[in-house]
Amino acid sequence: DERVTKVAAWLHDYADTITEHSQELTDLDREIGDADHGFNMERGVKAIAALDPAQFADPGAYLKKVGMTLVSTVGGAAGPLYGTLFLRMATALPTDTALTTATFAKALRAGLEGVTQRGKSAVGDKTMVDALAPAVERLEADAAAGDKLANALKHASTAAQQGRDATVDLVARRGRASYLGERSKGHLDPGAASLTMLIESAARTLS
Ligand code: ADP
Ligand code: MG
Ligand code: MG
Repeated sequence: DERVTKVAAWLHDYADTITEHSQELTDLDREIGDADHGFNMERGVKAIAALDPAQFADPGAYLKKVGMTLVSTVGGAAGPLYGTLFLRMATALPTDTALTTATFAKALRAGLEGVTQRGKSAVGDKTMVDALAPAVERLEADAAAGDKLANALKHASTAAQQGRDATVDLVARRGRASYLGERSKGHLDPGAASLTMLIESAARTLS
């Protein structure tokens, strides 16, 4: 399946990116958390990269396995949340669906809804949601405008980066960083950083 091959390219790019920036993500988490986000994510993406794409008949089946793998390997808060993101995306990509701006937007919207439900989080709480939500909104706008996936993902990357950078000025209301209250201000959220990398990887590999 050609779509499975594309999704594999996305996930492998993400695995490489997380591995390359693992220390950086952990350092961000040292400021407002417990200094493990990069290590947590690296464990997860290595397990994902070890999956054989040829085993999966369609992107949904693949992403489902990816979600389960993240839940069982990443741990912490990010594991179940990233796991939910992929499991919901899997459900929103039926076997016969082509990868387009509209279908990717729909899948990522379902993933975002899963994360906010599971994390009881919203935009402005200084979490991965602050990068994911603007990316989803941009994809939906581009889908409505008839933009091609490659272009839409470039725009979505910029939206995610802006959302990520805006977490610096926010007070954390969810996760470990929320224990710091006002002192969480002035630091970039590690989960928003790793989530932005996921969208950037998509922009490099999906079209
Ligand atoms: P832990 O905090 O358990 O050590 P990680 O360090 O791996 O887990 O992940 C921390 C990241 O998870 C945060 O930077 C934040 O983006 C995200 N996060 C934590 N709690 C929530 C939540 N309730 N909703 C959304 N994202 C969250
Ligand atoms: Mg942590
Ligand atoms: Mg931890």
